[in-house]
Amino acid sequence: MLEVEKKKSEIKYSVLCPLFSVFCLLVFFGCRRAEDTSYKPEVITTKTGIEMVAIPAGWFLMGDDNGAADERPAHKVLISAFWMDKYEVVQEEFRKYQLPDPSHFKNPRNPLERINWTDAALYCNDRSRAEGLEPCYDEQTWQCNFEANGFRLPTEAEWEYACRAGTTTKYSFGNDVRKLKTYAWFAENSSGKTYLVGKKKPNPWGLYDMHGNVAEWCNDYYSESYYKQGPDRDPKGPAEGEEKVLRGGAWNSSADSCWSSYRASDPSLNDTCLASDIIGFRCVRTALNTAITLPSPDGKEDTMRMDSTSPLGTSSPQVLKTGFVYDDIYLEHKTTPGHPESSQRLVAIVERLKASGSYSDGFDKLTTRLFVLTPGPAAMEWIETVHSSHYIERVKVSCENGTAYLDSLDTPISEKSYEVALIAAGGVLTAIDAVMQRKVTNVFCAIRPPGHHALSDRAMGFCIFNNIAIGTKYLQKKYKLQKVLIVDWDVHHGNGTEAVFYDDPTVLYFSVHQYPFYPGTGRQAEKGSGKGLNYNINVPLPAGSGDNDYLKVFREKLEPAALLFSPDFVLISAGFDACKGDVLGGMNITPQGFAQLTQIVKSIAEKCCEGRLVSVLEGGYDLDVMSASVEEHIRVLMRDPALTSTSSVESREPK
Ligand SMILES: [Zn+2]
Repeated sequence: MLEVEKKKSEIKYSVLCPLFSVFCLLVFFGCRRAEDTSYKPEVITTKTGIEMVAIPAGWFLMGDDNGAADERPAHKVLISAFWMDKYEVVQEEFRKYQLPDPSHFKNPRNPLERINWTDAALYCNDRSRAEGLEPCYDEQTWQCNFEANGFRLPTEAEWEYACRAGTTTKYSFGNDVRKLKTYAWFAENSSGKTYLVGKKKPNPWGLYDMHGNVAEWCNDYYSESYYKQGPDRDPKGPAEGEEKVLRGGAWNSSADSCWSSYRASDPSLNDTCLASDIIGFRCVRTALNTAITLPSPDGKEDTMRMDSTSPLGTSSPQVLKTGFVYDDIYLEHKTTPGHPESSQRLVAIVERLKASGSYSDGFDKLTTRLFVLTPGPAAMEWIETVHSSHYIERVKVSCENGTAYLDSLDTPISEKSYEVALIAAGGVLTAIDAVMQRKVTNVFCAIRPPGHHALSDRAMGFCIFNNIAIGTKYLQKKYKLQKVLIVDWDVHHGNGTEAVFYDDPTVLYFSVHQYPFYPGTGRQAEKGSGKGLNYNINVPLPAGSGDNDYLKVFREKLEPAALLFSPDFVLISAGFDACKGDVLGGMNITPQGFAQLTQIVKSIAEKCCEGRLVSVLEGGYDLDVMSASVEEHIRVLMRDPALTSTSSVESREPK
């Protein structure tokens, strides 16, 4: 039981406001996280000099099946990466913004207390403005805009996730209550007051005073029922309520009330009164992408600097975003009615990403989530690195003449197909430029027509120019990179790409595909020739292969070969026609399976070449499954939540 008292003020302008509802017991259960507790997140110092800890994305088990009613059931929750104040907000920090310090136990480095929820939110806004960030709170409605890049109060789920720091025990240090006094100021050792922040031991992620000292405001309204039914991904609490959530216990709390899953709440939203002297808070800031660093692609100075490596282990802490190449011009390559390679494919992808909030025409979203790159046509000198000038001319003339098909009936063309095909190749070059110029870490190119079947002098299999091969040549000639890895997971063998690099030891072409199948090539025995021998790896799989078959290939064949090769850049021929349900494919990869494959390729890029990776759309013809797979693929590229580490990806349990 807790001893947080519940006092009710009857006088409107009284100094002391009500406080704290009481919630009993909780018993431990705990949570599960991808990383172990030896994981040490980085600490950054913000522009205004506040230390924040980079909390990695991940799953954990929130609540406690043996706890109080409002902690049940323990449920799996996915949390996106965010930054959290290392310490509770202290009084001197609060006073910087000319806000009246309401604290009872006055000391500049003691936690601020007697702070009502609204004033805590106001402080978050002031601090955001001081750092040039967009404030999260509407100062009329006090609604939180989670898309804003400023500071806010943590969600209840974020708070518990950060408190647990990978532990599954009652407290972030284990189950032994005798240790609590080394981690917390609480009823047994506080002598009835608060203390300087940071004087007790931190939790495994380096956060201080998560147990005790002052209880901390969360952004969420308190609700027992929401807790039971809320979403499993970044739950944000109910839309309305009477009380806001408090977490962590305070100087007057019993040991039990300091448990990681203990929930409390308080109604002090009212501006006119102060909260109890057991209530304080700390701020968080959403980490919208891989990390927060250096100048962002739009040229705006970011407000945080990195002190060490990224929280998620990338070897390149400097680049942050995932690029997205797309332009409506790609819809202008018209195929015949009913043809699977239609413009609807890209429409489906963009709609899917817009609906899921990772792509937007709006400036804010665009710069904070995906970095949209607008492609131009590839210069002829680059097309000619792969295709004969005779063929290029033939494509051009065929389109001008209104020819219906190029080389075979499977590759229909239209008036603008030549122009669009140049821009498809150009899209890959735009993506490469953005990565090489460190505007982004990686890019997904939503382009068409696809390319991996296109030969030097012949169109094939819906493909006109071999986009990925042209990109490879571009990397080697323009950027002088020596070794490029191409991973081709389209259900079809990329015969065109194989042909271009068959005798080239500087390009490792790795294709996993259905065999026998179109286009008839891709036997395991095709290993390259001359100096290129063994730099061409084909892994034929039978029809019906699924996630586990592909994962096995990626882990046992791709990973060792790729690490040995140690590429300077990684390209993916990302066809999604091996999706379960694809009209042409006959394979069974799920969207989650693609997430796992992506994670493996991405980790190769991180280990070998600072994460430099460009993924290029090839096939994929079932609009729903394909676009769902593209979303999962992009989420991994962006390091969005669950998908950031291999183990958390695995927790998604592909069928
Ligand atoms: Zn294909």
